[in-house]
Amino acid sequence: MKILSGLSLQEIEEITDELKASKFRARQIHNWIYLKSVKEIDEMTDLSVKFREELKKVAKVTDIKIKVKQVSSDGTIKYLLEYPDGECVETVLMRFDNRANLTACVSSQVGCAVNCSFCATGKRGFIRNLNYKEIIEQVLMIQRDTDLKVTNVVFMGQGEPLLNLDNVLKAMEIFNENFQIGARRLTVSTSGIIPQINKLAELDMQSTLAVSLHAPNHEIRLKLMQIEDKYNMSDLHKALKNYVEKTGRRITIEYLLIKDLNDTIESAKELAHYLKDIKCNVNLIPYNPTAENDYQRPSNNSIMKFKFLLEHSGKKVTVRLERGADIDAACGQLKGKVC
Ligand code: SAH
Ligand code: SF4
Repeated sequence: MKILSGLSLQEIEEITDELKASKFRARQIHNWIYLKSVKEIDEMTDLSVKFREELKKVAKVTDIKIKVKQVSSDGTIKYLLEYPDGECVETVLMRFDNRANLTACVSSQVGCAVNCSFCATGKRGFIRNLNYKEIIEQVLMIQRDTDLKVTNVVFMGQGEPLLNLDNVLKAMEIFNENFQIGARRLTVSTSGIIPQINKLAELDMQSTLAVSLHAPNHEIRLKLMQIEDKYNMSDLHKALKNYVEKTGRRITIEYLLIKDLNDTIESAKELAHYLKDIKCNVNLIPYNPTAENDYQRPSNNSIMKFKFLLEHSGKKVTVRLERGADIDAACGQLKGKVC
């Protein structure tokens, strides 16, 4: 049985060829899957009933299930999706009231090997990579369930996308070509896997690269992220400069703010110094509590002070709005299991 979600037009043509149908049928099926987000072959109403019956014998729309769906008071929706092998990941749909954007936050792996101290996903360890079809299915699931069209995709769910780069790049290509989501509306967030950042620079990626820096210096970063031991901040600095030079694109620096750990005035100044020759915007993420550690969120006052100091150094700084915290859908709270 073929699964239609995730197939390219050519792959769908192979099915219609086998059924001795015209290539135009393949185009119709493709539109139903990617633009109209149908749940069943029977919803493809411009195909004859006879052809739909033949198609149903060899193919179905999807083989993943929504295991749990939670809606936050701010409109954020979190889905726990189950793949045929029983593994689950979370996908989050965020709506920002002041914009027409609908952003899907997708997972790239089940679990994550990087194991940052502040992150609920990392605590599970690495289970497996998602293939590109399993990645794009997350967006299709959202579209099918809500009848809305996703406009932006961020790889900020579970997993380290750059440790599953081939599948992530293929998924991005499909988002771009089949879903008609522009490259600029796709963001890949990484904990800083240097060889893969260099590879993206060579590939001249047109999407946004977001880097989870989270610290102003080696010592603090090491406390938060074991990966600093392997790919340290000074090598990362070179990789980021190279990335900007090769692609001409501005990087997003993500900086988690944790009370009394990396939110001080000294940290802000040190961070500004580190970033001074890197073309970037900074996105401050006030820490979202998880059950696994006792870090705390800074006061609004110190968040604003930190922001001001960075802005003073000439950077554009945003503070990430917390979305869906009441359903554990905010950054770092995704575990991929029913709690
Ligand atoms: N593995 C990638 C992408 C997924 S995490 C990465 O680390 O960049 C997406 C973002 O959520 C990262 O910036 C991550 O550091 C942040 N995050 C993780 N735990 C968090 C927490 N408890 N509170 C706020 N943000 C968190
Ligand atoms: Fe993995 Fe990102 Fe969580 Fe770190 S923050 S453990 S890299 S998912």
